[in-house]
Amino acid sequence: MTVSGSWQHAARGAMLLGDDGALRPTIFAEMSALAVSTGAVNLGQGFPDEDGPAEVLEAARKAISDGFNQYSPGPGTPVLREAIATHQQRFYGMTVDPDREVLVTAGATEALAATILALTEPGDEVVTLEPFYDAYGAIIGLSGAKHVTVGLHAPAFLPDPDELRAAVTDRTRIILINNPHNPTGTVLPIETLQLIVELANRHDALIVTDEVYEHLVFGAAHIPIATLPGARERTVTISSAGKTFNTTGWKIGWLVAPAPLVAAIIAVKQFLTFVNGAPFQPAIAVGLGLPDSFFAGVAADLAHKRDLLSAGLVAAGFGVTQPKGGYFIVADASPLGFDDAEEFCRRLPSLAGVVGIPISAFVSHGNRAEYSSLVRFAYCKRVSVLEDAASRLSRLTR
Ligand SMILES: *Cc1c(COP(=O)(O)O)cnc(C)c1O
Repeated sequence: MTVSGSWQHAARGAMLLGDDGALRPTIFAEMSALAVSTGAVNLGQGFPDEDGPAEVLEAARKAISDGFNQYSPGPGTPVLREAIATHQQRFYGMTVDPDREVLVTAGATEALAATILALTEPGDEVVTLEPFYDAYGAIIGLSGAKHVTVGLHAPAFLPDPDELRAAVTDRTRIILINNPHNPTGTVLPIETLQLIVELANRHDALIVTDEVYEHLVFGAAHIPIATLPGARERTVTISSAGKTFNTTGWKIGWLVAPAPLVAAIIAVKQFLTFVNGAPFQPAIAVGLGLPDSFFAGVAADLAHKRDLLSAGLVAAGFGVTQPKGGYFIVADASPLGFDDAEEFCRRLPSLAGVVGIPISAFVSHGNRAEYSSLVRFAYCKRVSVLEDAASRLSRLTR
């Protein structure tokens, strides 16, 4: 039986609609299964294998004991909305009204979905960088908007200003960026952020910015695009607790935007999930209030992990672009004689006992050639796991 429906738009947007019209399994599922069946070290999926801060975990247990087990208020538990507003002030000097400019969501994913569904109409254009997080393509597909991409070119993975200028037009409804960027580890330079604000103003587009890795940067402090002149009144800033506090399974995310945009997004969000994670919301409020040493610590810890994996990849003969933020490193397999990363990733468990994801999973069909030899590896894993992976990868050179 062929089941038709909007799922086909989502699947096509995420590059998962096969030639036979059926939904193909994601490469993530295929590679995770391969890791299990071969005993390979799984650096494919981007979730941490260690728990986050004890205070945050304890606060969730306490919230359950204290009876925070029913629906929370639609926009989110007040204590979390206040903590988000305080966090924006503390780290970025942004003054945010916790009652009208903050919305708690079921992870950054729901924030993205509710925002794009609420603010676009079929035929509008949404511009993203490419490679892009696979959910972007699926959500844009569901919305009926047209997905326009601007390439991040190896080895620096920065967008070309002229390509950005050409991509943003009066048809553009949203410029959707991800900064720091998954999968490339790019942190967009301030000049690029300024250009995006300029283009959004010139063409009256909205800016949606996915900043889930805001605290996981390894150089200068993160700059939210919303803090630049001319940006705030047209920007939806999205973040999530998952990556900062190693609580990806809790699915507590949020967005910060001008009140009229928040009201429009709530109109959609309330019929997607309504609310989620009541006892986790006050626990994340505790996390956002942790001292500066915590936030500096998670970045330093992850920088060390990045260095371990990147040294292992370089020693094994890959071409490596050092990520400036986030969970992932992109490695070029062509110096090792492999030009097809999909084939290489299928063979890597038997060649070296490690699993990675071909970058083609984040690139639209027409643009895959440029990225064909690139592989994404996650370094958000225990040091012992990364050391094991590095020593396994050294088999490739032997
Ligand atoms: C992990 C991730 C998300 C999803 O965040 P959730 O809070 O788990 O929904 C969104 N965007 C990017 C770029 C991510 O890497």
